[in-house]
Amino acid sequence: MTERKLATIRRVDQILPIEGADRIVLARIGGWQVITQKTNFKEGDLCLFFEVDSFLPVHPEYEWLRKTNFKSTTNLGDGFRLRTMKMRGHVSQGLALPLKFENGGWKLESTAYTGHVFQDEDVTERLQVKLYEKPVPVQMQGRATNFPTFLWRTDQERVQNLTARLPEYMDEMFEITQKLDGTSMTVYKKGSSFGVCSRNWELEAPNLGEELNAYFRIAAEARLFDMLRFLDCDCAIQGELCGPGIQGNPEGLAKAQFFMFDAFDITEQRRLLPGERLRMVNTIRNADAGFELLHCPVLSYRTLSSIESDPTKLLDALLTMADGPNLSGTANREGVVFKAVNQAFTFKVISNAYLLAEKE
Ligand code: AMP
Ligand code: MN
Repeated sequence: MTERKLATIRRVDQILPIEGADRIVLARIGGWQVITQKTNFKEGDLCLFFEVDSFLPVHPEYEWLRKTNFKSTTNLGDGFRLRTMKMRGHVSQGLALPLKFENGGWKLESTAYTGHVFQDEDVTERLQVKLYEKPVPVQMQGRATNFPTFLWRTDQERVQNLTARLPEYMDEMFEITQKLDGTSMTVYKKGSSFGVCSRNWELEAPNLGEELNAYFRIAAEARLFDMLRFLDCDCAIQGELCGPGIQGNPEGLAKAQFFMFDAFDITEQRRLLPGERLRMVNTIRNADAGFELLHCPVLSYRTLSSIESDPTKLLDALLTMADGPNLSGTANREGVVFKAVNQAFTFKVISNAYLLAEKE
């Protein structure tokens, strides 16, 4: 199910000393920074880099992680989960492991795979690395079938993986929405059929008399099917389902609610741009006083250069913007999502304050 490149071969761009530490250093790899043994790398070396949320298999070379990272899960079995940490005042994200330089090339040697590797190569599958996700409680899901091929899953690339490309987008206008922390939900209409999907599955409608799971209950309560029927297009409304019983309710809501953040045109096979989406929201809201369609908070519209004109300082400025309160003001928000107004380019900026406070 992993589409994210969790394990890749990357260049160590920079090594920075850590004040008061002589055995460890800060390695910069693209937009990521990770604390590592001083003897592991010199600048320019290639390394094996695992992003945060990687779930590594139980293999001897990772046993040293057992004390801090071992996790037994229902969906992925046993493994080691990589998370955001802070040491000596520095955020450390992911894991960078050295490669062997042999016969003029870089070689990866691990239990799962041994061979020569190249910069930017994706080795996620070969190393059997999985994406760690908080499991969705069974009672929420009910019976499910494969995610429809005519829809796109919701996802954004992390800004730390885009630092090389961001300079091209300095003058592009972005819609900045709050990233809500619940679970992805999609409702669609295609011809005469309607459907509800979780992030990775299409959910089967409960039988008559059967209790509705959270997805179908919210779809009914919020009248999402009526909205799609009114629009009379083959399209999907995508958003975040948040509330009590959903991933620990990080937004601190009193009841479950659905917050739209995307619209998908099934006929044209494309995601609507922010302006088109907000027009759709307005059309729906104006159609019927009973249509209470909530939308993820739109925080602002900005160009990247208006946030920080120096591209080398942009990442830090974006990370600062990601910090803020959640929907109810009870904790840190998860972050923000940037969506270009005029083209299909989006990314997410996860708040480090949020990641460091994460319990699970
Ligand atoms: P992640 O939660 O790290 O998997 O990031 C991607 C997910 O963020 C998407 O699949 C959505 O479920 C969720 N999300 C929450 N708020 C937003 C938003 N404002 N725009 C886009 N995606 C969002
Ligand atoms: Mn999420």
